Amino acid sequence: MLERDNILDLALTRLDEAARHLQIDGDVLERLKYPRETTKVRLTIRMDDGSRKSFLAWRCRYDDTRGPTKGGIRFHPEATVEEVETLAFWMTFKCAVMDLPYGGGKGAVRVDPRSLSKAELERLSRAYVQAFSRIIGPDRDIPAPDVYTNAMIMGWMADEYSTIVGQSVPAVITGKPIALGGSLGREDATARGGYYLVSRLARDLGLDGRMRVAVQGFGNAGQFIAKLLAADGHRIVAVSDSRGAVYHPEGLDLDALLRAKDTGQPVTAIAGQGGVKPLAPEDLVAVDCDLLVPAALENMVHEGNAERVRARVVLELANGPVTPEADRILEARKVVILPDILANAGGVTVSYFEWVQNRQGFYWPVEEVHQRLKALMEREGSKVWAIARERQVSPRTAAYIHALSRLAGAIEAHGTQQ
Ligand code: GLU
Repeated sequence: MLERDNILDLALTRLDEAARHLQIDGDVLERLKYPRETTKVRLTIRMDDGSRKSFLAWRCRYDDTRGPTKGGIRFHPEATVEEVETLAFWMTFKCAVMDLPYGGGKGAVRVDPRSLSKAELERLSRAYVQAFSRIIGPDRDIPAPDVYTNAMIMGWMADEYSTIVGQSVPAVITGKPIALGGSLGREDATARGGYYLVSRLARDLGLDGRMRVAVQGFGNAGQFIAKLLAADGHRIVAVSDSRGAVYHPEGLDLDALLRAKDTGQPVTAIAGQGGVKPLAPEDLVAVDCDLLVPAALENMVHEGNAERVRARVVLELANGPVTPEADRILEARKVVILPDILANAGGVTVSYFEWVQNRQGFYWPVEEVHQRLKALMEREGSKVWAIARERQVSPRTAAYIHALSRLAGAIEAHGTQQ
C-alpha cells in the first residue's frame, strides 16, 4: 500500500504527464500544483450519553478558476488532510473533463459513522456546516455526498445552512433528499454515468456481447452498476465489500445480494447458496472477467497486485482506485482503464443538474435527467477517446489533457496579473 503522505504528489504525476503533451505555460501549472485553501477544524459534539467528543474535519477548495468549488464530504475513520486535498484535485479535473462550470473541492470528517447513533450523526453533520458556513455557499463551494455520507446527511446540512443564513438555500449542497429539493436520478448517477460511458465505448473496447463483471465495493456505486449491467444481460461474477467477497462463474443472484445488504449483512451472507463461493477480498481483482469495476476507495489496484488483474477493461467508479505504478503495469498488459475523472463523473454531473434546478426552482422528470446525463457522458467520453487515439496515449492521459486544456484556457482568460 502507498504512504498516504505522498498521495497528492502521485496524483500530480498525471498532471505532469498531460502537460508534456500540451504547450502549457509553467505559470498555469504553478496554479494547479497546490490547493488554494484547506481549512481544518475540530468539531465537538454532545454524545447521547451526555459526554463530549471531538472529531477532526477539513474542507479543501482546490481551485476555483472555472467556477465555485464542488465536491463531496467523506465520513471515514482514516480520512487525512492529504487525502482530502487529493480528492479535491481530482474534483477540479473531473468538473473540467465534463465542462461543468465548477472548480474542485472536497471535505471530510475523521469518524466511523457506524459507531454513531442517528442523533449523534445529525449533530456531527450540523456541526460541520456551522464550522464551515463561511466557506461553503451556492456560489462559492458546494458540498455533496461521498463515502459513508448520503442524502439524509445532505438534508441536515442544507437545513443547518438555511437556518444560519436565515433563508432557504437549497443550492448550497447537492445530493439532498427529493423532499428538500434533491434531483430525481441523483442517487444512482455515479453508476449510471459509468454505465453510459461503457455502453458508448463497448465496441471500441472489444466488449461486445455478454460481459463477465467483477465489482469491488458494494455501496452506492457498486450496487447500482451491478443492477444496470445485470439488467442488460451481463453476468456479475464477483462482488466484494469491506467484510468479504463472493464468486460464481455463471453469475451471482443479484436480488439475494441486495436483500443481504438491505438487512445489514455482508455480501458473504449468500456464500454457499447455489454454488456461490466465498473469496478473499484481495483476490477479487484477480477474478477471470471482462470488466473490473473498482467502486470502493483509493489505491485498490497497486504495484503489488496489478499483475493479477485478468479483466480487459477497468471502469473506475471509485476515486483513485488504480495507482500510477499499477497504471503502467496494466498499460503494458493492454488492460484499458476508463479513468475516474471521466468514469465516475456522473455523480457530480447530476449534482450540477440539481443545482441548476434549485436555482431555477423548476424540476425535471427523471427521464430528462437520464437523457441529459447520457448526452454529456457520451459527448465528453467520445472526445477523450478521440484524444487517446490521436495522440496514442491512455484514456487517463487523454482525460487529463482534455481537462487541462480547459483549465489552462480559464486561467489565461482571467488575465496575467493574478
Ligand atoms: N463525491 C462525488 C465525487 O467524488 C460527487 C461529488 C459531487 O456531486 O459534488 O465525484
